[in-house]
Amino acid sequence: TDVRETLDYQTFGRAVRELAQTIAADGFEPDLILSIARGGVFVAGALAYALDCKNIHLVNVEFYTGVGTTLEMPVMLAPVPAAIDFTDKKVLIADDVADTGKTLKLVYDFCLGHVAEVRSAVIYEKSHSLVKCEYVWKKTDDWIEFPWSTEEPVVKRAGQVLDA
Ligand code: 5GP
Repeated sequence: TDVRETLDYQTFGRAVRELAQTIAADGFEPDLILSIARGGVFVAGALAYALDCKNIHLVNVEFYTGVGTTLEMPVMLAPVPAAIDFTDKKVLIADDVADTGKTLKLVYDFCLGHVAEVRSAVIYEKSHSLVKCEYVWKKTDDWIEFPWSTEEPVVKRAGQVLDA
């Protein structure tokens, strides 16, 4: 598609505050926030402050290689947080967007059976997402420009090897 939804930093700030209000009003008090890098890290950090939650963890998932171009399946990259005892924890998964929902489903399934409770929060959710997040700020079907990835990186790096 050529239609784009542009989120600037100021609106991002308002979005996560509103998302946090919704989560708090729902009575959900996560013990830890699990962010999906890299976009979810911004969301998790802001939500952690707004929800007064001091535990943040992250998982690295690689899926998108460009606008609308993906790998076959999302893959979780090392290090997978296996050493952390999530058993009795209420976990909030945080990401920027549930698009196909495959990334969130991967992390959600990773948590199932290992945690007391798991819910997810995203700024955007697309209508075709196979995961319906408990907390969504806005629904859209357009390609989203996030403030952290709107501009080109200040340096170009070739041949970077991902930890797998
Ligand atoms: P999914 O697995 O739900 O298809 O996609 C998850 C990840 O892909 C998101 O966390 C995000 O990094 C990237 N992604 C998916 N849709 C968009 C989009 O519309 N805009 C941007 N900038 N990234 C997206």
